[in-house]
This record gives sequence, structure tokens and C-alpha cells, in this order.
Amino acid sequence: MATISAPHRHLLGIASLATEEIEALLETADGFVDLNRRSDKKLALLRGLTQINLFFESSTRTRTSFELAGKRLGADVVNMSVGASAIKKGETLIDTAMTLNAMHPDVLVVRHHDSGAVALLARHVRCAVINAGDGTHEHPTQALLDALTIRRRRGRIAGLTVAICGDIAHSRVARSNILLLTRLGARVRLVAPPTLLPPGMGPQYGVELFHDMRAGLEGADIVMMLRLQSERMQGSFVPSLREYFRFFGLTWEKLASARPDALIMHPGPMNRGVEIDGVVADDIDRSAILDQVEMGVAVRMACLDHLTRHLREAA
Ligand code: ASP
Repeated sequence: MATISAPHRHLLGIASLATEEIEALLETADGFVDLNRRSDKKLALLRGLTQINLFFESSTRTRTSFELAGKRLGADVVNMSVGASAIKKGETLIDTAMTLNAMHPDVLVVRHHDSGAVALLARHVRCAVINAGDGTHEHPTQALLDALTIRRRRGRIAGLTVAICGDIAHSRVARSNILLLTRLGARVRLVAPPTLLPPGMGPQYGVELFHDMRAGLEGADIVMMLRLQSERMQGSFVPSLREYFRFFGLTWEKLASARPDALIMHPGPMNRGVEIDGVVADDIDRSAILDQVEMGVAVRMACLDHLTRHLREAA
């Protein structure tokens, strides 16, 4: 079976994964979903290995699920809190990387507010590095867990119409999903006001652009909503939150133009009443938002498993 091959060593983005590697990760993750539903969830695949989670940006879902993933596979997992570390005292990213490297971790899971920072750090350590989100660049494990969610709920990805809606300009989730979903044969639409689309985005990326929710959702199989990421905005991108909700917030009324069984997704954290109406998000038949959280643990287990296989083979 394909695994993440030696030249990568790291998981920095969907862009650097081959299609077979994506398929292999999804296949492995699918197996871990069943394990995670059992009362005894523990394997010894990563026994003796050390995983450090280094988060320069806050996170609930991603950090917890990487921690659970590592522990369920038997690794020793350390969470480094940046707020209480030497980084706060002015240490550079490279010094931090070298310091951690000297402690011989086997996997570093890194989230950073700057695009490209995780790749930079990866060049200075000997272990595998997983990008848990870098700036507005990529969030590969989110796209993988979204793909697994879609595959399990719809049985396939190829041929489906996926509408990614909202703050695409500031979203690493959108970027990774565009790369992954187009690669696996989905038709991807981006639905956003012009101010929230990255400059230069268009058909050359294999996507269709819409500035109107009803038109963009017409016949969609999957409606993926994104958070309005105010913390990444310099200046104002929408007239007001009320107006944004009125034109771009997902309501039953706007969803009526999608397929009757269209699946609703959101990577979290959600801003209810801004990009999505709470009653839509909570509909247990239509919303896959909690499935996404569940798939997150399985996908991260698969990534840890694949990236450490060469260590186990060498032992
Ligand atoms: N949790 C996702 C991320 O880290 C999405 C978000 O923050 O809105 O990119």
C-alpha cells in the first residue's frame, strides 16, 4: 500500500502529496474510525516514539485530536504551550526548532500564524513535521478529514459538487480543500463576496466563482461553510456582520437551492448567526459538523502512522 514516501518525510500541505498518498491516508484513517468507536482504543504502533505538539496559535479541535491520535497509537505526547515558553521571551523559530530537535522527538505537530513558518521549521529538524495550519496557507489534515467525512457520508468524492462558502481569502482550510477535492474529481465552487476571494482565484485552479449564495448552492451536494476570520483581517472586508449574515449566512432558505440531501460542513469554530444559522448547524440529518470532528482523530492517527512507518521498519 502507498504511504507518504521518504522524500516528503513531512506532511506540509496537500500540494506536496501524490493522489495515491491521499488515497492511502484516507484508507488507513477509515480503519481507525472503527477502532475509535471501541471501548479499548489503544494500539502500540507508536510505542517508544515521542510526539511534540507545538501550537503558536490557539486551537481546540486540532490540538486535542492530535493529542488523542498520538496517545491512541501509544506515543508519548507532549503539548508545548507557547505562551509559557522561551518563544515568548524572543527566541527565534529556528532556535526553537533546534532546541526541540536536540530532545530527539519523532514527530513535531506545528501550528503557526505565518504562512510558510512550518516548512521553515521542518528544514531545521531531523524528525517528521506535520503542518497543523500555517497562516492562510494550508491545513492539510483538515482537508483530509473533510474528504473522509464526505466519502463516508456519500460513498465517493468524484463527481460531487462542493460549494465552499464565505471567507475564502483568509482560509487555509479552503486552500487545502480546493487542492484535495479538485484532485479527487469533485466540482468545486467558491461562493463569497469579491472582497473575501483571494486575488487571482478562478478557473485556472479548477474552481467556479459565485458571489450569490442561491446561485452558488444550486444543485450542490456539499455545502462547506467557513468562519469569518476577523483575526486575520487588516481593515474591514464586510459592511457589517448583520449584512454578511443576510447575504452569505447559511439559512434553510438559502440551502433550499442545494440538493435536498446536501450535506452541511464547517471546520469550526463556528460563528452562529454570522456565517451559519444555529438551527441549520444543529440539524442532525443534514449537518456533518460533528462527524468532521470524529474523522479528525482518525485522519491524524493515519498521518502519524504513515509518517513513522520507516522508523518502525528500521527497528
Ligand atoms: N480551525 C480552522 C483553522 O484553524 C478554521 C478556522 O479557524 O476558522 O484554520
